Amino acid sequence: PVRVRFAPSPTGLLHIGGLRTALYNWLLAEKTGGTFVLRIEDTDRARFVEGAEEDIRESLAWAGLTIAEGPLAGGPHAPYRQSERSSLYKDAADRLLASGDAYIAFDTAEELDAMRERLTTKENPSPRYDRASMTNSLTLGEEETQARIARGDEHVVRLRVPEGETVTFIDLIRGEVSFETSTVDDQVLVKSDGLPTYHLANVVDDHAMEITHVIRGEEWLSSTPKHILLYRALGWAPPALAHLPLILAPTGGKLSKRNADKLGIPVNVRDYVAAGYEPEAVVNWLAFLGWNPGTEQELFSLEELAEAFSIERIGQSGVQLSMDKLQWFNGQHLRALAPEAVAERASGAVGEKYGDIDRQRLTEAAALLHERLDLARDLADAGYLFEAPQAYDEAGVKKRWKEDSAALCRAYADRLEALDAFTLDSTEAAMREMAETEEVGFGRIVHPVRIATTGTMVGAGMFDTLVFLGQDESVARLRRAAD
Ligand code: GLU
Repeated sequence: PVRVRFAPSPTGLLHIGGLRTALYNWLLAEKTGGTFVLRIEDTDRARFVEGAEEDIRESLAWAGLTIAEGPLAGGPHAPYRQSERSSLYKDAADRLLASGDAYIAFDTAEELDAMRERLTTKENPSPRYDRASMTNSLTLGEEETQARIARGDEHVVRLRVPEGETVTFIDLIRGEVSFETSTVDDQVLVKSDGLPTYHLANVVDDHAMEITHVIRGEEWLSSTPKHILLYRALGWAPPALAHLPLILAPTGGKLSKRNADKLGIPVNVRDYVAAGYEPEAVVNWLAFLGWNPGTEQELFSLEELAEAFSIERIGQSGVQLSMDKLQWFNGQHLRALAPEAVAERASGAVGEKYGDIDRQRLTEAAALLHERLDLARDLADAGYLFEAPQAYDEAGVKKRWKEDSAALCRAYADRLEALDAFTLDSTEAAMREMAETEEVGFGRIVHPVRIATTGTMVGAGMFDTLVFLGQDESVARLRRAAD
C-alpha cells in the first residue's frame, strides 16, 4: 500500500509551493487508498518558528487535505515530530560510524572558512569538505578521536562519500538521474548539538515510517544522491522518488519571495485565504502547476483530481504561475456553489461596507451576480445592491445620459409605479411599450435607467436588478436621478 509523507520544516508560513507538494502526495494516497502522513522536520532549532506547525496544519485543512497520520492525528509510527525521535537518528549515526560510512570531524567554523578560502577557484566556487587536510577521525586516528571526544571537544558526524563512483537512481518524473560522487560533499549528518541534519533524519524516518513514495520539489534533487548513499550504507531499500518541477514566476524566472512581492503574487497559503480565494479553486489551480489530466477538462473537485491523478502525467519543466488563471478557476468554482454559500462567503466583506444585511437579501444579491463574480467578496463592490448610488459613473453619464434621459427616466418611473405585479416580464414589457409610444430606441431608455438605478454601466440583467431592488426603491432611484 502506498504511504506518502509531507515533511515540511516549521521555518515559516506554509507557501503555495509547499501546498502543491502536499497536494500531489495527498492525491496519490487518495487515488490508491494509501496513507498521507504529516511529518514535522524540526531538527534545525535555529530556524524553528513558533506557530509554523499550526499554520501548516490549518493550511492543509483549509485545502481539504486530510491527515491520516501526524503529530495530532497520531498513528503507528508516532511521534511524527523529528525533535521527538532523537534516539532513532543516534542509532543510525552509530551504525554508520561503526561501518565506516561516516566519520567524526572536529573542524571549527573558522577552520572550515579557511579551507573554503584556500580551495575556492573560478572552476570550483563552492569546494567540498577536504577530508585529507582537515581534523577528523580519518586523519587523527581512532585513539586521538576518542580522546578528543572524551575531553569534550565539539564535533560533527560526516557522511563518507565514496570516491570515483556514479550514484544512479530512477526518478519517476525525470527517469534515470546520475551524480558523480566527486561532486557530492561529505554531508554533515549530526551537528555539534547532537541533532541530526535534514539528510539523516529524512532517510531514517522515510524508512522507519515505511514511506513508499517521496514526492517533493526539484530543489531536493541534488540532495538525493546523499540519501541514496545513506540508504545503501544502512542496508535499506530507498522509496520511489519523484521530484516536482519548479513553479516559475508569470514572467518566467524563478519565483523567489522577492520577485513574487514585486509582481504582487501572494506567497503564503494564508494570503490566499485572506484574499478570499475558494480552497477548491486554489487546489485546482495548483494541481495544474505541474500536472495535467491529458484531456480538455480543467475543472476538478478535489475528489475528481484524486481520481484522475497519476505521477506519469507530471511534467519535468518549470511551470509559470498565472494569477489570471487562478481568478478564472475561482469564478468557475464559485458558480458551482449555491447562492446561499456565496452569500455566506461574501457576508464579511459586505457587512464591513454596508452593515448587517439580512441573509435572505444577501442570498438574493448573490444569486443576481453569481455568474459575474470572480471572488465571493466582490459582491461588496456592487454597492447599489445594498444602498442607493451615491454617485453616477462619469464615463457612463457622458456616453449614455442624453438631453431626454431625465424625462425618459421619469416616464419609466411612472409606468413602474402603475404596475400591479412587479416582475421580470412586467418591468421589461413596460419599457418596450414605452419605447414604442415615445418612438425612441430601447437603448435610449435602458442605459439611463441602469445609470439611474445602479450608478454604473455594468451589472446583472437590468430587469433582474429592478426586481431585486423592488418597486418603491426602483421608482425612487429613477426619480432621484432625474431631478
Ligand atoms: N523538510 C524538507 C522541507 O522542508 C523536506 C524535503 C523532503 O520532502 O524530503 O521541505
